[in-house]
Amino acid sequence: MQDLFAEELQALRARSLDRHLREITVAQGPEVEIGGRRLVNFSSNDYLGLANDPRLRKAATSAIDEFGVGAAASRLISGTQSPHLRLERALAKWKGTESALCFSSGYAAALGTIPGLVAKNDVVLLDKLCHASLIDGARLSGAILRVFPHNQLGKLESHLEWAQREHPGKRVLIITESVFSMDGDLAPLRELVELKKRFRALLMLDEAHAVGVIGPNGRGLAAAENVSEEVDVQMGTLSKAFGASGGYICGARTLIEWLINRARSFIYSTAPPPAIAAAALAAVDFLASPEGEQRRLLLWKKINLMRELLSLLASHVSRPNENAGSAIFPLIIGNEQAALDLAATLQSEGFLVPAIRYPTVAKGAARLRITVTAAHDDDQIRALCQAIKRRSP
Ligand SMILES: *Cc1c(COP(=O)(O)O)cnc(C)c1O
Repeated sequence: MQDLFAEELQALRARSLDRHLREITVAQGPEVEIGGRRLVNFSSNDYLGLANDPRLRKAATSAIDEFGVGAAASRLISGTQSPHLRLERALAKWKGTESALCFSSGYAAALGTIPGLVAKNDVVLLDKLCHASLIDGARLSGAILRVFPHNQLGKLESHLEWAQREHPGKRVLIITESVFSMDGDLAPLRELVELKKRFRALLMLDEAHAVGVIGPNGRGLAAAENVSEEVDVQMGTLSKAFGASGGYICGARTLIEWLINRARSFIYSTAPPPAIAAAALAAVDFLASPEGEQRRLLLWKKINLMRELLSLLASHVSRPNENAGSAIFPLIIGNEQAALDLAATLQSEGFLVPAIRYPTVAKGAARLRITVTAAHDDDQIRALCQAIKRRSP
């Protein structure tokens, strides 16, 4: 047994595909500490710098004082406490949907929701670059799964025609993301909505990297494009820009009631700690406030600075994010070991930038994934870009 894994691990190592944990010894922020060294952190999804915000800390500690730590049971048994419901009401209000439902993670939201929406003989059409949680949810549903090339709506349209022809009367669910997690580009949402309406399909949109970043008060791409009503299932996570933890689905009241009855990751898992719900609620309140909107605009200043500086490097490092639509900047390196080497060099110079490799991205499409947050100084961004410029071939 042991030898089997040792061999497999060795094989991973030989292909530069092995992964290891690194210990962060301080709170999350624009700087972290690893092995006693301070590093400027360009690896986190804490886009608004809320993970260690006093407002969230206070909300969590007050909730611990009032409600304790564990939720003790699943939501449907006795695990639903006031903070869970307050959070769901606030999320629905902020998103402008009838209702909302929280899960213990975004991953759990996808895994529970998709099999609640479609089953065997239904059809799921998934963008090629969708997150693992969406792929896993789609597989678990048992529905017929077709993948369309990234953002290629012509291909999606032919899949829709095929589904209509070959599986008449069956439910068709299109799944995509607002902001793609490893590429940072956006889905053509308005055109997607046109298609889904024309073919009477359902549309599920994962806003994990869009909420807090895009749209008025960070309400996401559906809100920014004014198509919120047309997106049947709005998924997101409380673990990224919200600085807390958990996942959510926003949508019609009947959808949410259905998920309460059908989403297995919701039904058969203990409710998230009430303190986490309270912290997430503090984040929603912050985003909805003028101060939150200012923080988001500050993030965009940092995004624009990063984009400008990286585009100057375009000839040194391949294709920085052309789309400029998000806080995610992939520097495509290609070779896995080369990406690891560049990440290691940057780390030795004081920057934490993760090398992203297969199977998170395609083989030979390894990259550095730089994320910028509102909490970064301009000088930190400049220093990173200079370091990349010095080191790139
Ligand atoms: C991170 C992520 C998730 C999962 O959310 P968690 O709350 O971290 O489990 C789902 N979808 C996308 C696109 C993500 O990037």
